This record gives sequence, structure tokens and C-alpha cells, in this order.
Amino acid sequence: MPSEAAGPAEGGGSEALLRELETRVRAVVGASSWWERHGLDGAILALSLLVLPAGFLCLRADNVLVFAVGLVVLGVSHYTLTVKGSHLATHGALTKSKRWSKIWTVFFVEVCTAFTAEHARHGHVKMHHGYTNVLGLGDSSTWRLPLLNRYVYMFLAPLLIPVLTPLVALERLRTLEPREALRSLTLIGLGLYSHYWLLRHVSAFQSVGSALLCMLVTRSLLAHPYLHVNIFQHIGLPMFSLKTKPRRIHMMSLGVLNLPRLPVLDWAFGHSIISCHVEHHLFPTLSDNMCLKVKPVVSQFLKEKQLPYNEDSYGARFRLFLSRYEELMVQAPPITELVGLQ
Ligand SMILES: [Zn+2]
Repeated sequence: MPSEAAGPAEGGGSEALLRELETRVRAVVGASSWWERHGLDGAILALSLLVLPAGFLCLRADNVLVFAVGLVVLGVSHYTLTVKGSHLATHGALTKSKRWSKIWTVFFVEVCTAFTAEHARHGHVKMHHGYTNVLGLGDSSTWRLPLLNRYVYMFLAPLLIPVLTPLVALERLRTLEPREALRSLTLIGLGLYSHYWLLRHVSAFQSVGSALLCMLVTRSLLAHPYLHVNIFQHIGLPMFSLKTKPRRIHMMSLGVLNLPRLPVLDWAFGHSIISCHVEHHLFPTLSDNMCLKVKPVVSQFLKEKQLPYNEDSYGARFRLFLSRYEELMVQAPPITELVGLQ
């Protein structure tokens, strides 16, 4: 049975609303310095690269505490480069230069994440952002694994992410042009092999197995929140059909949810994925820091115009998904009928 959501504006009104919001946000961006627009997020990514040698060296230590610090440094840096770095790069939010955006996307997605830049851009930017919560297109269904029960999915499945990511990339290489496929394969291989090589030669791991286990541990350090956040922010909210999808401003205000600020995740995933996801879906080329800066403007605007501004805590979403797992993650989501928003 379709659920219902009401909205205040019709087609033309929706476009005017979006333009009004864009004008307000553009004013904030225009008044911001380069450091605020790009510098701060670039510095976080640079720092994540610069601490890598210290992280690998800590793993040489016999002292358990120093070893654990090494694991945390490498794990958090891995997620900062692969989630925050890849996400901002694919959106072109790191720099205004198209050429550099492409180079950064290839570096963060292929070398660091072991995935293909082409599929990351297509799946995330074109489909998920272009058709947010539209069934069969950008409905987050790639995150559904109906075969798994709720506990296996929420607690164990995240550990598979570092293993599945390069395997899915390999499977998708055949859909790429031969030149692109060769580049992706080479860079993914280079990223994985250099991680392994550093563990054997800098961290002095004695066996292949222990080095591979360490790769798995650091690459899955924040896999749980990564998987959870990806489902918490869209699934369970209104879903649309391609024919009756609402105008952009309604699509984003109805179909996207913000979590509160969470320091480790703000750092590693970025504000645009945690507390400013609504702002990010409305203005996807803004950097994490700028999403945070325009957040008061966007939230006040949506509330002023009586549009939804979804917010919930990590704990509340976690409990919701555990208790209504069958309905949210196994069954096909119902389409929300909207009146006057298309
Ligand atoms: Zn995005």
C-alpha cells in the first residue's frame, strides 16, 4: 500500500523555492575564503597521507599500546582517504579544476579504495544523487542483502566490505573500455600491493597471512558505521517511482536524513555524509566544510517553507533498523504518493 506525504508547493513553485535557496547558499559560498571552500578539507586529506609512515612504523613495535595506535592511525586514515577523499573527489568538491578532480578521483577511488572510478561516479553521482530514493535507480538497494538475517547484516557483513570491494570492481572491469579497464586494474593492483609491501617491509610482518590479516583489520576498522550510515540516511524515508518523482527540492528534503555530529565520523567520512547529508544532496559540489557552513541557512529555509528536514540519531536509526529489518531491508519499499510535487 502506498504511503503518503504532503507538500506545500507545485512544480513552478518548487523551482522558485530551489532558486531562492540557491541564491542564499551562493551568497554564503561567495563570502567564504579558499581555505573554507577547499583548503580545510584538503588539509585533512593531506594529513591523512602524511601520518601513514608513522602508522606503518608503529606496527613494528612490541608494545601492544603502540601497535594498537598504529592500527587506529592506519584504519582512520584509510577511511578518510577512501570515504571522504573518494566522495569529495567524485563530486568535484576538492578543487575547481576538472583535470585535477579526475586525477584525485582516480587516486582516491582506485589506488586507495580498490574500486573503479568510472563505476563510483556513475553509481553515486549519476544514479544515487540524480535519482535519490527513486526505485530501481537511486534507491540504495545495492546495500540490501535480503539473504542475511538482521544480526549477520548489521554486525558481520561490514567485515566483508574490504574483500568484496575489489572483487566487485574486477567483475565490473568488463563493462569498461579496454584502456580504462587496464588503468583501473593497474591502479587497484598497485594500491593493494603497496599496502601489503609496506606491511611486510616497513612494519616488518613476518608472514603473508599476518600482513593480509592486518590489511583486513585496518580496512574494516570503520566498516560498521560505513555500512550503517549508508542505509540509515535514505532507507525508510519516502520512496518514489520514476514517473511520479517529485521536484529536486522535495526529493531531497523528503528522501534524505541528517545524523548528528559524530567527531570520528565527521573526520573520516566528512560532514556531507554525516550531519550535512541533506545539504550535500542539495548542493553536491560543496566541500564538507562548506556543507557545514551552509547548514544553518538550508535548515532554516526548509523549516521556514514548511518542508521536511529529517534528523535522527545514530542510536535511534540503529534500533529502528534492527527492530524493523524485515520491512526496511528485505521487503520491497512502498512508493510514496505525492500530490502536486512532480
Ligand atoms: Zn554524494
